[in-house]
Formats: sequence, C-alpha cells, structure tokens
Amino acid sequence: METLFPIVVFLIFFVGALTLITWHQRSMSARRTLPARDDYVAAHGSTACRHCQSAATREYGLEDQSDERRVVACTACGKDLYQYRRDGDA
Ligand SMILES: [Zn+2]
Repeated sequence: METLFPIVVFLIFFVGALTLITWHQRSMSARRTLPARDDYVAAHGSTACRHCQSAATREYGLEDQSDERRVVACTACGKDLYQYRRDGDA
C-alpha cells in the first residue's frame, strides 16, 4: 500500500491537470465562437446583456490583455456576450 501512494498522488495530480486544461480549452473555443457585435445587436436589438438585460459591460482580450480581438462580458451576471476587433470594423 505504501508503494502505491506516490502513484495515487501522481494520478490525482494528472487527472486534475487534465481536467483544468480541458475546461480552459472549452471556454476558449466558446469565446472564439461568440457572435460579432453587429450580429449580436441584430439578433438581440441592443448591446445589453441577453441574460439579465444589464447594460453594464466589461471587455478583455481574447488571448491576452493586449489582444485586438475583444470579448465583451456582462458585469452583472458575468456571461460573455459578443466580440469585436479593437480597430473598429466589426
Ligand atoms: Zn448579464
């Protein structure tokens, strides 16, 4: 049993890391498929949150803070809403 302990610790660490990586990749691909701002406005009438109707939003870069592709999320419920390019067109 004592010889199994390091193996069990390794397996727990490995499965935990794998779960984190999978979760991260899933959330990143969900962000990449967010609608463009124009499509979002066309579908929902305004840039307000479609989940809680809050108009307060925050934005962040898709890959990192300085990414030109910006993801806009609701500050009230935290859900991602749409994306746009910082240079203005779309
Ligand atoms: Zn919301």
